Amino acid sequence: MPRSASAAAAARPGLEPAATVLILGGTGEARDLAALLVERGDVRVVSSLAGRVARPRLPVGEVRIGGFGGPAGLATWLRGERVGAVVDATHPFAEQISENAAIACGDVGVPLLRLQRPGWSADDGDDWRWAGSLSEAAALLPAAGSRVFLTTGRQGLGAFAGIDDAFFLIRCVDPPEVELPRQHELLLDRGPYTVAGELALIDAHRLDVLITKDSGGALTAAKLTAARERGLPVIVIRRPGRPELPEVSTAADAARWLSRR
Ligand code: NAP
Repeated sequence: MPRSASAAAAARPGLEPAATVLILGGTGEARDLAALLVERGDVRVVSSLAGRVARPRLPVGEVRIGGFGGPAGLATWLRGERVGAVVDATHPFAEQISENAAIACGDVGVPLLRLQRPGWSADDGDDWRWAGSLSEAAALLPAAGSRVFLTTGRQGLGAFAGIDDAFFLIRCVDPPEVELPRQHELLLDRGPYTVAGELALIDAHRLDVLITKDSGGALTAAKLTAARERGLPVIVIRRPGRPELPEVSTAADAARWLSRR
């Protein structure tokens, strides 16, 4: 049976028990980092997921699932597991857990790094309209378009519930649990997506506007290329402010940061 890398590190004769690194996850970058560290084998790696998705893509190495119970619960967990460093590799729109991590790591005195992919940027000629929130995006309808490709995930969809004069193709991983707009079709799917697939959806549903968070990354960027090809306006939800931290944008850089500690 394959032995976990953390067990391997701890078992090498003459070595101290491996330090524990907590990766706050839920993103591809978090999975990449877990894979790099497990492969390197010199630390114990625990990835943490919120438990929102019914069948999450699991990282390699140890995984724990579910909230910690606020900053105090996270601080207790960090102390109990003798965590040596935390990498906040959560999604750019996961505001609360990032706030909690900053508070808990500050309290316990554990170094904290943010691993966050860069946001997307428009090409010349793109018609992008920035919105500060889902409600601000909803307020731009139906003027910006009345056949909407809504790809902001299942949380916060209530912001669109009262819009009766537009059709929504709503794509998310798991079924939403809030009231949805009267005219909608639900598409349960998860990336990565292709430009050809996104074009087919736009054409089949005669979509005329795309709404997306500024999530960044390659896995879900095909919709932006497809919108560009069809000349669709794109309403982009701006990233929320998160606590100022040392930050890197790739798993390899995060692994180097950890090596220096
Ligand atoms: P959030 O609002 O920032 O966090 C809400 C609560 O969920 C936190 O207070 C924490 O509970 C728990 N939590 C969140 N992430 C966690 C993690 N990685 N491990 C353990 N507990 C976690 O988070 P969210 O926006 O709902 O996102 C949840 C997860 O989905 C995140 O891990 C994120 O990376 C991923 N995700 C989010 C989005 C998005 O658009 N928001 C998109 C894709 C993936 P306690 O206070 O009890 O500790």
